[in-house]
Amino acid sequence: MTDSSLLPEAVASTDSRASIDTLASTDAAWLARAIDLATLNVANGGGPFGAVIVRDGVALAEGQNRVTAQLDPTAHAEVVAIRAACQAVGDFSLAGATLYTSCEPCPLCLSASLWARVNRVVFAADRHDAARGGFDDREFYELFSRDRSTWALPVDSVRPDNAPEPFNAWLALQSRTQY
Ligand SMILES: [Zn+2]
Repeated sequence: MTDSSLLPEAVASTDSRASIDTLASTDAAWLARAIDLATLNVANGGGPFGAVIVRDGVALAEGQNRVTAQLDPTAHAEVVAIRAACQAVGDFSLAGATLYTSCEPCPLCLSASLWARVNRVVFAADRHDAARGGFDDREFYELFSRDRSTWALPVDSVRPDNAPEPFNAWLALQSRTQY
């Protein structure tokens, strides 16, 4: 329960409404840029995906899908943008940043967003739009929701005695950089 004497409802709702409206228009503007990048990329030999990484109202980097152009199956727009943003700021963390993307991130890009520690992800089209375009985003999400033993891709655990060795080396290193 909210104590109305501590939080005047009328004032609070007016303020939050205003900040939501500001956020929505900001989101729309950055998404428009991501969509433009995606559409332009089609004419430039890339896939129909674009992304922008924004922090404190400034674009740190943009990305476009370059999978076929660069023969890199991981060159998704979001990954390209994350890599470029990290280079731009000189850090492997993008904490405080928002990733705007023209389409719902696939599991690869969602994981990359988690690894990059972005604060927020905002997308325009979704996995169903991507499926209509012939892309596997939705299929991969469905795959991850199924037991791994049912996958067409075998993922096998083989555990030799020295399997933990790299982690022992890591933990023994005093100068390691945590991430
Ligand atoms: Zn992706």
